[in-house]
Amino acid sequence: MSLASKTALVTGSTSGIGLAMARAFAKEGANVVLNGFGKPEDIETTRTAIESEFGVKAAHSPADLTKPDETEAMVALAVERFGSVDVLVNNAGMQFVSPVEEFPREKWDLIIALNLSAAFFAMKAAIPHMKKAGWGRIISTASAHSIVASPFKSAYVAAKHGIVGLSKTAALELAKDKITVNCISPGYVWTPLVEAQIPDTMKARGMTKEQVMNDVLLAAQPTKEFVTVDQVAALAVFLCSDAASNITGANLSMDGGWTAA
Ligand code: NAD
Repeated sequence: MSLASKTALVTGSTSGIGLAMARAFAKEGANVVLNGFGKPEDIETTRTAIESEFGVKAAHSPADLTKPDETEAMVALAVERFGSVDVLVNNAGMQFVSPVEEFPREKWDLIIALNLSAAFFAMKAAIPHMKKAGWGRIISTASAHSIVASPFKSAYVAAKHGIVGLSKTAALELAKDKITVNCISPGYVWTPLVEAQIPDTMKARGMTKEQVMNDVLLAAQPTKEFVTVDQVAALAVFLCSDAASNITGANLSMDGGWTAA
């Protein structure tokens, strides 16, 4: 178990990619700090399942990461409960779709706050603990949209490009501290969020489920396959291994060839 006695803090881990990552780190022996929204009873079920399945400790921080003070409190909770933050995954994110000239100011601010600034504040709070421990891994879930754009996603694309720049900068600053800083950039990942869009799109466009998946959702993804949350989580676990100690400042694509085109 490569992460035994380490602590992994994964933001936005009450569902989707973040939850798969938290579970994968726990499987490797790490204590985990979950973060994100949801029904308290569902979060408690998720938390206790991790503890009983993997024999580790799991905590939950309800921090709203659009608020820097709450982001700092989340890191403080991890340190208080488990002694440090060895692995920080900046994963929480949201989307809003609108032409630039109509994009609501508050949506722009919210997406930049969650998808970009929260990563900065979490890193700022966690790095001193990683330096003290002499080891650390910072991973951010970026997106294919950190490399290419799509219309109507200005805030998301700007934030995802930004998190790559932030990560490269931190990677250079921390290069001699045994702390690596990388991004993972998935294409379309099969999450409950994506699945839930299918019936509405079928109705709106008069398409079959297969047509919606291949011609709408996977239009840009040459493999015509969704990435799975477990594949993203496996890459995150690899980035925490000794074999990955010289991967830093990288933006690793997992997008079925999307950004090769
Ligand atoms: P998801 O909606 O399943 O999960 C998002 C998580 O973020 C949830 O746990 C939610 O509670 C949490 N969250 C939302 N607002 C928050 C806030 N203000 N403070 C704290 N937590 C908050 O989404 P997902 O598909 O698993 O996406 C996770 C990350 O992966 C995001 O950064 C997203 O941009 C990125 N991504 C997703 C895909 C995809 O196809 N699903 C593709 C590329 C990148």
